[in-house]
Amino acid sequence: MPEPRDLPIAAAPPPAVIPPHVPVVALADLVMFPKISVPLLLTDPQAQEAVTTAQAAGQIVAFITVKKARPDKKAQPDDMYDVGTACRVREAMKLPDDTMRLLVEGLERVRVSQVVAVGGHLEADVAAWPAPQSAKNDRVEAEMYSVVNQFKEAVSLGAPVPFDVMLVVMNLTDPWQLADLIALNMDFRADEKQAILEAKTTEEKLEKTGLAVARQNKVLKLSRKIQDDTGKELGKMEREMFLREQLKSIEKELGTVGGKSEFDELGAKIEAAGMPDKVKATATKELARLQAMPSFSPEISYVRTYLDWLVGLPWNKKTASEIDIAKAGKILDDDHYGLEKVKERILDYLAVQKLVGRVRGPILCFAGPPGTGKTSIGKSIARSLGRKFVRISLGGVRDEAEIRGFRRTYVGALPGRIIQGIAEAGTKNPVFMLDEIDKLGNDFRGDPSAALLEALDPEQNNEFSDHYLESPFDLSDVLFITTANLLDTVPAPLRDRMEVIEFPGYTEDEKFHIAKGYLIPKAVEANGLAGKKLTFTDNAVRTVIRSWTREAGVRNLERELSTVCRKIARQVAEGKRGHFAVGISDLAKYLGPERFHAAGSEKRDEVGVVTGLAWTEAGGEILRIEAAIMPGSGQLILTGNLGKIMQESAQAAFSYARARSKELGVKVPFHKTSDIHVHVPQGAIPKDGPSAGVAMALALASLVSGRAIRHDVAMTGEVTLRGKVLEIGGVKEKVLAAHRAGMHTVILPKENERDIAEIPKEVRKALRFVYARTMDDVMKTAMMPRAKS
Ligand code: ADP
Repeated sequence: MPEPRDLPIAAAPPPAVIPPHVPVVALADLVMFPKISVPLLLTDPQAQEAVTTAQAAGQIVAFITVKKARPDKKAQPDDMYDVGTACRVREAMKLPDDTMRLLVEGLERVRVSQVVAVGGHLEADVAAWPAPQSAKNDRVEAEMYSVVNQFKEAVSLGAPVPFDVMLVVMNLTDPWQLADLIALNMDFRADEKQAILEAKTTEEKLEKTGLAVARQNKVLKLSRKIQDDTGKELGKMEREMFLREQLKSIEKELGTVGGKSEFDELGAKIEAAGMPDKVKATATKELARLQAMPSFSPEISYVRTYLDWLVGLPWNKKTASEIDIAKAGKILDDDHYGLEKVKERILDYLAVQKLVGRVRGPILCFAGPPGTGKTSIGKSIARSLGRKFVRISLGGVRDEAEIRGFRRTYVGALPGRIIQGIAEAGTKNPVFMLDEIDKLGNDFRGDPSAALLEALDPEQNNEFSDHYLESPFDLSDVLFITTANLLDTVPAPLRDRMEVIEFPGYTEDEKFHIAKGYLIPKAVEANGLAGKKLTFTDNAVRTVIRSWTREAGVRNLERELSTVCRKIARQVAEGKRGHFAVGISDLAKYLGPERFHAAGSEKRDEVGVVTGLAWTEAGGEILRIEAAIMPGSGQLILTGNLGKIMQESAQAAFSYARARSKELGVKVPFHKTSDIHVHVPQGAIPKDGPSAGVAMALALASLVSGRAIRHDVAMTGEVTLRGKVLEIGGVKEKVLAAHRAGMHTVILPKENERDIAEIPKEVRKALRFVYARTMDDVMKTAMMPRAKS
């Protein structure tokens, strides 16, 4: 489509020379006449293309009416009358809704000899056929007089004719122009107008016009009668017929090209959509409003979009869904390795739903780091229940309207994400996953969690109200599942309604099995390598896990494995045959240099450098903490994007180190003469929470005492001013992270000893755990003896 552009109006158009071959715009219900300018709206691409073609060459287009419009509105060469009007396109502008607004000046009547399709539009051979130059005679005078009188009568009966047209008609002396102007402005049928255009003589022209005006007057009188006789008995059918006629004529009057069948279609869709009665009544009313709107009204597209939404929603459409616990169990097992506890909990949940009969009770919430299979388990649940699966992300949603829709009075309003999800599912009972519920915002624009609560609450979601729809939608058959990385930020009222199922990170061994059993077969299939001989050695898989990824889930692992498959697919495509065995030595070739070194981030024992453990959205992570001392005035400088709580915890660690400086063997009053800088690298990642307290206190103690810290010891715990070590959360994820990073010893608060039971056996075996009550315990484990100097 060409860019919209405004054409300058030619100052004084030269007398029209009609080229012998011109582009054609096919008109459905409208006839163009010579010497009259008309604004037009073109909706169909065929017509628009013809106009654009004409713009490139002389601006002349033949407007030819079709004998009968086709349902697809695409006119064929045979459909045309063989008389039309050559017009000059004076202005053409593409509107944002893809319609084209034109100002067209009728030039000359033309005979059409051959219509052909060229590209996406029609073109025709035409020859000018001007009106005969006959002198006026008495008969013509009399007929003109009669036509003008009939026209006046029409106006007095309420024919919607603009005042200025009326004035011109009364004063015209040219019979051809008179007839044309009346024909264009009155509600004639297309065939009547065409007959007027095609008249061979002046007498014939006026006679045809007179007949058409007379018929029109009959309709107008009938309309009067209907209006006057509302009290009297009048068949509903007749009335409706009349109203329709009137609507149609309004449309014609305003230059709508085609369009009626669209309304019929919409009407049929409304019938078929299975809407509740109330909604159907609204839709029918809106459709009537739409039909009555003039075609240039900007509201048309809003109302149409609204109706499209209404008819597109699955008001009554469900997939047959039955809860078969054994089948569900099998599907969950088929699709996923491990996750035993998760699967157990899900089957329990489904069993309860089965007994209760429908979705009731708490909403499931899958909580865990990315790539731990939350989405994929959701899909399997949908599959096992025979339901559709949809997923929307709530990340960054701050506005209630994004959940519940914008009111229709806003430009560009749309339904909220819930209704959009339902429309996408196409059924009213999908498994509906709401991702990242922990990233939901909340500010002055309203609280999205309130809207969510209403959507999720089985007690009230059978009448979920979306601002855009303005009609309640029944969400009670939807099986909602939410997901979160961390639960801390989930608004409490929401959390109360959810049954949390934790997806912990995977151990290296689990990842290995997931890769072998699921990720590799999937990647092989996805890259078109099914049936080709491609194997990964076990060592290669483990090496990818260890040296190319460091994550709680398997998302990057999946990516790396499919990178390898993609590269092999390329070799196959280039003609390489045989068996592809991917071993450790091939990895660098496919994946580039190793990204992580298994032995932890630090290889040497250093003063002031400690390995802490953090629990983030991505699961557990190791956290390097560095402290440095320099001459100064006793300030504590903290860098590395630390949250408020973490800063306070660093202050506490600092005070602890100061308070204990004597025991630590520090002679100088460092808190007066030195500045201390604590830095936690990877500054872009925000870090917060008290659980790095122990690690920071240890870094400071190491710094002031000059004793190095063992590089293979990782720790977590909150510290008090007096050096007591307090309980923290996320033990399992943190321990897994320490294991991934190749640590040998993990220091945990004594109170967290009980959490160890949750940690997979292989990990427990590989690590040494030290449970600390005080900083002294920590120092004993992690500090090297004082270097003898
Ligand atoms: P999440 O939604 O938790 O971020 P996904 O469900 O998108 O994670 O999982 C990422 C990929 O890892 C998916 O392809 C998924 O099938 C796969 N995956 C995760 N856990 C397992 C598992 N236990 N068994 C098999 N495949 C898994």
